[in-house]
Amino acid sequence: MIIFKQPEKICSFLLSKKKSGITIGFAPTMGALHSGHISLVTKARNDTQFVICSIFVNPTQFNDPKDFDKYPATIEKDVFALEKAGCDVLFLPTVPDIYPDGFKSTLNYDLGILETILEGEYRPGHFQGVCQVMHRILGIVNPDKLYLGQKDFQQCMVIKKLVELLEIKTEIIICPTKREPDGLAMSSRNLRLTETERNKAPVIYDVLSSIKKNIKPGNINLLKEKAKQLLIADGFKVDYVEIAIAGTLEIIQKWDGKTPLVTLAAAYLNEVRLIDNIILNETANP
Ligand code: AMP
Repeated sequence: MIIFKQPEKICSFLLSKKKSGITIGFAPTMGALHSGHISLVTKARNDTQFVICSIFVNPTQFNDPKDFDKYPATIEKDVFALEKAGCDVLFLPTVPDIYPDGFKSTLNYDLGILETILEGEYRPGHFQGVCQVMHRILGIVNPDKLYLGQKDFQQCMVIKKLVELLEIKTEIIICPTKREPDGLAMSSRNLRLTETERNKAPVIYDVLSSIKKNIKPGNINLLKEKAKQLLIADGFKVDYVEIAIAGTLEIIQKWDGKTPLVTLAAAYLNEVRLIDNIILNETANP
């Protein structure tokens, strides 16, 4: 695996690769890699001829500076895991490489309701930061296929919207959420959980699964409220438990029994914020 740090170098290297007609698959990450991240690399390995992964903890998408400071870093382990998964190139830029002119952006990405609901509501500015970094990184890597995880359902929709707005020619592939045996969605932030918190964390998946099991056409507010109360009773501080239309993320109170839905939750265990989602009808995708 070749490691590139400077954007100019990886850019010209990939241009020459592209000239030879190979397809490039790309999985952007913030590191502290786990099997969820590696599943994106493996999928890219199967689908494309040349696989790139990036590791960059993006300051502009952290609305809480403490969360940024405490973001886990396990670079040696990450390099080893990527080598093992057959990744061809690791792009490992520094903050000035990605933001040569500082963090202030003159661009405002028009994300519609995605910016004001769920993660957009609870993490103001987060998705503009995601767009800032993805705009820059996609410009450097210019992949044929972009691999994202369903774990970040709303982020997938935001990046789809960004690719549309910028008219970038890349195909987006959404990979299923990898889970621990007890159901907890794999996440780099899980490394920050204490043993007691780690034991409680799968309750998020349990309550979402129970929504999936019990949802019926009609008013669904009680179902959401029960799920919220279960989390609170287990010591979570809940940002939201919601049910939304899978294609638009519009939050609904009543279900017609047909429209594809997704249920999503975000909750803190002390300092650590966890998110998860489950698609309620298998044909739906972010
Ligand atoms: P992150 O490093 O958290 O920014 O995630 C990088 C990419 O990996 C994003 O596309 C995530 O959605 C994806 N990802 C994170 N956790 C998982 C998981 N448990 N299963 C599948 N993909 C994941």
